[in-house]
Amino acid sequence: MDETLVIRARSGDRAAMEDLLASVAPSIRRFAMRMCRNEADADDVLQDALLSVATNLDSFEGRSSVPSWAFAITRSACTRRRRGKKNEPAAGDDVLVGMETREPGPEDSAASSEMAELVARALDGLPDDYREVLLLRDAEGLTAPEAAVVLAVSVDALKSRLHRARAALREALRPTLEADATPRAACPDVVRALSRKLEDELDASACAEMEKHVDGCPACARTCDTLKDVLRACRTSPTTVLSPELAARVKEAVAQWLLRRDVRTLG
Ligand SMILES: [Zn+2]
Repeated sequence: MDETLVIRARSGDRAAMEDLLASVAPSIRRFAMRMCRNEADADDVLQDALLSVATNLDSFEGRSSVPSWAFAITRSACTRRRRGKKNEPAAGDDVLVGMETREPGPEDSAASSEMAELVARALDGLPDDYREVLLLRDAEGLTAPEAAVVLAVSVDALKSRLHRARAALREALRPTLEADATPRAACPDVVRALSRKLEDELDASACAEMEKHVDGCPACARTCDTLKDVLRACRTSPTTVLSPELAARVKEAVAQWLLRRDVRTLG
């Protein structure tokens, strides 16, 4: 993000604040939607998070990027929302929301949108700590250090949670996608190995060893291909176009931010 935009927004420039919030709003909305799994809650979280980004921009020290910081703020807004609702009956787990994460492109086939839907369902069924790490790293494309900042954990802890989350995601999809591929008892843990490879944790010799096994083992080859397809279906296309609803949310947050500033100045 443009550093001068942050400086101008901090100084109280309305247009700059609108631009800044508009640039993070689509990913905040997407993340909130996938974490809350409920449109009304996601909208509340979005509003909360946008206002929070605007009012706290003064104290943002630039140790992380503005988008990562916005994810961290959204995550706490989600947690507050969940705590406030913990005595209410949970929404049905079969409610599938957030399917607008990928914008259909001309190359999108029926098969890939079916895969995206399968993956979205499987993600919705995972525990929150697995879902959030997958959303940040594999859907939103944050780097491991960026995602670690958002989740307030070390990079090592982030990576180890990510490997477990990817394995859980693949496990949830295995009956559907790999029903006919039976690994042998002696097969290595290719899911973990592939996940570590994606995080640059696998050294060259371990990598070569895995590739050698996968070349001679159709079940493991299938597993690797499936995991790659799943992670590809996870990835959201970066959206820069604001829907009219999001643009209205941004304007509302900026208006509230200005109002609060005025009240503070007068008081
Ligand atoms: Zn194998």
